[in-house]
Amino acid sequence: MSTMHDLHAADRVDDHAQRELEARAAGIKAVATEHATTTIQTCRQACGGAGYLSENRLPQLKADTDVFTTFEGDNTVLLQLAAKGLLTSYRDHLGDLDMLGMVRFVADHVMETVIEATATRPLWEGLRDADLTDRVFQLKLFEDRENHLLDGVARRLRRAGKDNAFEVFNAAQDHLLATGRAHIDRIVLEAFVAGMESCPDPEVAALLGKVCDLHVLCTVEADRGWFLEHGRLTPSRSKSVTRLINQLCAELRSSAEILVDGFAIPEAALATPITAD
Ligand SMILES: Cc1cc2nc3c(=O)[nH]c(=O)nc-3n(C[C@H](O)[C@H](O)[C@H](O)COP(=O)(O)OP(=O)(O)OC[C@H]3O[C@@H](n4cnc5c(N)ncnc54)[C@H](O)[C@@H]3O)c2cc1C
Repeated sequence: MSTMHDLHAADRVDDHAQRELEARAAGIKAVATEHATTTIQTCRQACGGAGYLSENRLPQLKADTDVFTTFEGDNTVLLQLAAKGLLTSYRDHLGDLDMLGMVRFVADHVMETVIEATATRPLWEGLRDADLTDRVFQLKLFEDRENHLLDGVARRLRRAGKDNAFEVFNAAQDHLLATGRAHIDRIVLEAFVAGMESCPDPEVAALLGKVCDLHVLCTVEADRGWFLEHGRLTPSRSKSVTRLINQLCAELRSSAEILVDGFAIPEAALATPITAD
């Protein structure tokens, strides 16, 4: 919100910043609405038949929010927009590089290729052995996945010419959407971490830290195929992600009410037969 205010209040239109903000808004809308739909469905099923009764309000919530994934921009198209914004910035960045910058860029890419070719060797070990709840490691993991996806999709799309642009773009759709999603995952995590760091109450910060760990680990678990395929996690570390998630769920269970209260949902909205006891 503050970025939007700054952009609108500025004397000069900053195209780059404007594009970045639009891409970010598009991506966050797509990921947030999908998250809402998935969460409500999970809650509905977790309550069994009672979750289907209208007196418990979950069906209405589901019906109301379902269309969010389509209107105000279809989520697939919005994620494409987020990724295209990144690609434009990427192209601008490459255009700005001097000879040394370009050499470094190429060297980084060669290094990435080596990492993948030697995924079973200990090149990434320093990070691969890090504590999965280490915040610096988590941030690095998300940033690395985004950069890697972006490099890859940029290379693929570079093959597009006048005659084959549609085919090349279409063939890279999955890659493009994964890039947009990875970008949003990173900025959401960075915002989460910044929020925790500014929290004045150490007890609340510690609780939020666990929620953040759970969020990170669930995101990694959902995309564990990518992390394994790209040598960022070993199979045993990947298994320990699920073990940690289960552990965190058990630990956070007793704080569920406090966490819900944090959203200040009015009592009248929470008062349903299923929540009465
Ligand atoms: C309840 C409701 C209220 C609405 N209110 C308004 C309103 O007030 N004002 C308004 O202007 N509009 C409104 N809309 C329209 C809404 O913005 C569009 O439905 C939405 O943008 C999706 O467009 P579409 O329906 O043409 O679907 P399509 O764009 O045809 O999408 C259909 C499918 O094709 C996929 N798809 C489309 N394009 C691509 C692509 N380039 N690459 C890959 N896949 C693609 C989509 O992901 C989707 O799965 C409303 C829609 C609904 C359902």
